[in-house]
Amino acid sequence: MNTDHIREALRSIRYPGFSRDIVSFGLVKDIQIDGSHLRVRLEIQTRDAEIPQQIFKQCHEVLDQLPDFTQVKVDIDIKDPTAQASPAQTGASSIPGVKKIIAVASGKGGVGKSTVSSNLALALAATGAKVGLCDCDLYGPSIAMMFGCHEKPLANEQEEIIPIETHGLKIMSMGLLLEERSPVIVRGPLATRYTQQFLRQVAWGDLDYLILDLPPGTGDIQLTIVQTVALHGAVIVTTPQEVALIDARKAVSMFAKVNVPILGLIENMSWFECDAGKRYHLFGEGGGVREAEKLRVPLLAQIPIQIPISQGGDQGAPVALLDPATHPASAAFHQAARLLCDVR
Ligand code: ADP
Repeated sequence: MNTDHIREALRSIRYPGFSRDIVSFGLVKDIQIDGSHLRVRLEIQTRDAEIPQQIFKQCHEVLDQLPDFTQVKVDIDIKDPTAQASPAQTGASSIPGVKKIIAVASGKGGVGKSTVSSNLALALAATGAKVGLCDCDLYGPSIAMMFGCHEKPLANEQEEIIPIETHGLKIMSMGLLLEERSPVIVRGPLATRYTQQFLRQVAWGDLDYLILDLPPGTGDIQLTIVQTVALHGAVIVTTPQEVALIDARKAVSMFAKVNVPILGLIENMSWFECDAGKRYHLFGEGGGVREAEKLRVPLLAQIPIQIPISQGGDQGAPVALLDPATHPASAAFHQAARLLCDVR
């Protein structure tokens, strides 16, 4: 029996309150087999003491049955998700009043990163948190459009930009500062400077979460952003196919370079379900699930391809505003937000 067998066995344990298992959540950090001794280490970020107890009990129920081992040890490291992130990156500073800054990134464009950022921000706000959303894409800003915001933001007496308030969120987008269809001609070092300045000059006020929608890719601008503000962590958005996963891995290693933890992966465009209920995995099946397991990070959600998601984005009313009880796409974003709050 090897570590893969143990991992398979642990897959039968669900994270309390969720339909997903503890392996795909990325909780299993280490499995060691030494003759007939088995040792498993899990890491759980939660405020609820019941959760680790329940998982501990279930791990023993599963592992104690395995005939190959005379001794089974389950260690669970419990981390406080409310603890402030230490500014891991040198030179990065926090934004006054903002508790957690979370970057949403993808190595590749067009995978639905802005869609995910918008819906995740709304779903986080639905938990009662104070949430801001900042579109950091100088060349293809889309957050303003996704919320149907066209008004120009005003500045306060300190010459800070006042974010627009919509659907209980504070949003700021370079798109709101630009004329529609105006060509964006800033490049290179100037683009980096604009972005830095933009990040520092918004009057966010008190926020529990600030979601930064990073531009796609892993170039200079992205690296500048993650080095400018002290991030609590990053969420990576990918689609299931290998070409997207290759770029998602690049994003993961960019964050590793600056010691920013990956809070989870979101697989977008996971499948399309026809009226008869049959699922078509247009971009292959399970790519995001396997990647999350490989990276040992939680898969926060699998988001299907659905017309209401693209329509919601085009019409300024993202799908997470719909009732999660009757709209599965909305439910997927609300689940991801709950996971981000509870697990991290
Ligand atoms: P990115 O920010 O990665 O470039 P966007 O969020 O702008 O990607 O999404 C690209 C397009 O795909 C948009 O038109 C968006 O509405 C659409 N889209 C994204 N995710 C989904 C989905 N799950 N179902 C349907 N359409 C989607």
